[in-house]
Amino acid sequence: MVFSLFANMDALSIWTQGCSPEYPFRTGMNRTMNHHFHIPKEIEFLLQKIESSDRKAYIVGGALRDFIMGRKNCNDFDVATDASPQEIISLFPHVIPTGIKHGTVTVLLGNFQVEVTTFRIEKGYSDGRHPDSVSFVSDIEDDLSRRDFTMNAMAYNHAAGQIIDPFNGQDDIRNRCIRCVGDPAQRFGEDGLRPMRAVRFAAQLGFQMEPATLAAIPACLASFAAVSRERVRDEFEKLLMGEWALEGLRLLESTGLLEAIIPEMMPCRNCSQKGTHVFDVMDHSFHAVAAAPFQVNLRWAALLHDIGKPASMATGPDGIPTFYNHEKISAQLAGQILRRLKLSNDDIRDIVHLIEEHMFHYTEEWSDAAVRRFIARVGTENIDDLFDLRMADSAAIQDLMPDQRNLEQLRLRIDRLIANDGAFGLKDLAVNGNDLLSIGVPKGPLMGKVLDALLETVLDDPEQNNRQTLMNIAHNFMLRLGIETSSGS
Ligand code: ATP
Ligand code: MG
Repeated sequence: MVFSLFANMDALSIWTQGCSPEYPFRTGMNRTMNHHFHIPKEIEFLLQKIESSDRKAYIVGGALRDFIMGRKNCNDFDVATDASPQEIISLFPHVIPTGIKHGTVTVLLGNFQVEVTTFRIEKGYSDGRHPDSVSFVSDIEDDLSRRDFTMNAMAYNHAAGQIIDPFNGQDDIRNRCIRCVGDPAQRFGEDGLRPMRAVRFAAQLGFQMEPATLAAIPACLASFAAVSRERVRDEFEKLLMGEWALEGLRLLESTGLLEAIIPEMMPCRNCSQKGTHVFDVMDHSFHAVAAAPFQVNLRWAALLHDIGKPASMATGPDGIPTFYNHEKISAQLAGQILRRLKLSNDDIRDIVHLIEEHMFHYTEEWSDAAVRRFIARVGTENIDDLFDLRMADSAAIQDLMPDQRNLEQLRLRIDRLIANDGAFGLKDLAVNGNDLLSIGVPKGPLMGKVLDALLETVLDDPEQNNRQTLMNIAHNFMLRLGIETSSGS
């Protein structure tokens, strides 16, 4: 089935996501070929180049979906073609053979990295993860039939202004509906990642799942368990960054996928917090994700910041539960979970640090030295993120706007102290390890101890951060240990 394209971008652009189940996409109202999606010139060049060697080239996948929805600024283009990977390699100077066995190469053009895949079908999925074999085919409709959801199984020919839409993906987009191509149980059984993809699309697009597609998920969790953790992580991060992340997380839980990915979170459901909290720990965590800025490490921290609460729960004298030290248990569990999901060591370190530090209790009585110690512990580079996490945390306590005055006051003091004093870490001290070495402080743990003592001094009183004073202090420190240094002055 081939539809001519109607793509009046002005009409499309008045549709705003999430406000209406309908948007003014009018399939068939205008069957002329003179309306084209606006695509970057690099992509146009790529399509023309392939077509000029008598091959077909279509935009497929997320870019086409986004065009149809009127979403702009798409940078991630997938192209389907009947040209072989070798032909594509010979047509363009910069091509990376990213998945050549499966027919995919990546063409580098200006700032774009375009995945170009030869039309193919897939057969046999005995491991529930990969096809046993792929065969190249000459027909785009065959290629579209192997794709996961109807909204992803369309192809756009730019030169002709045509959308090929054999599974009525445009109707499903109009109805905001995620529907498998073919039988959901079979399609989910072939590749266990697809249910997770369905949920992340719900979180990104705010679409509902078609009932049969949704109902098929719980029965295919065994195939999901076989999927590589890197693929699960990538989809999870897209879900966390979705505009409908809250709904996506709820869907993840209700389908059983959350338990399969992060079983450690399950005790958070029905872990009631009483006091000012209106949500249990699970919903509180979901709301915290939705309230956090769109930055993936912050969203991980928001999701996992209270995961240690169930394990640390005790009942206080007034009957209200207490969660002493939960941030330590949360940090430890988060490290374990994020290592399992194969995040990078740097990301894990940053997320775990935010979680560990999220429970500060500021009062006006904090001295400047106390605020400086807080800054030094958190690290000046992490202050913004920690405050963002804390605001997301308090926004997820009740359905009311939280009172942030206390946090704002601390923030003002931090900014003032950073502007005035500027010494919050060893690197900011007026002396360094070499200076201490030069007076005879040996390298190793003792050197670390002396530097820590100097930093403590400077956090207490920034006036002391000059070379002369710090060298004297180091000299006296060593003397107290019975070690003579060459000179403290
Ligand atoms: P995104 O905006 O995240 O890039 P996308 O739909 O383009 O979304 P990709 O992972 O880039 O997703 O995949 C491109 C296309 O390849 C999809 O639209 C879909 O047609 C097909 N596809 C990707 N993964 C699968 C899968 N696991 N099973 C079936 N088809 C898939
Ligand atoms: Mg894509």
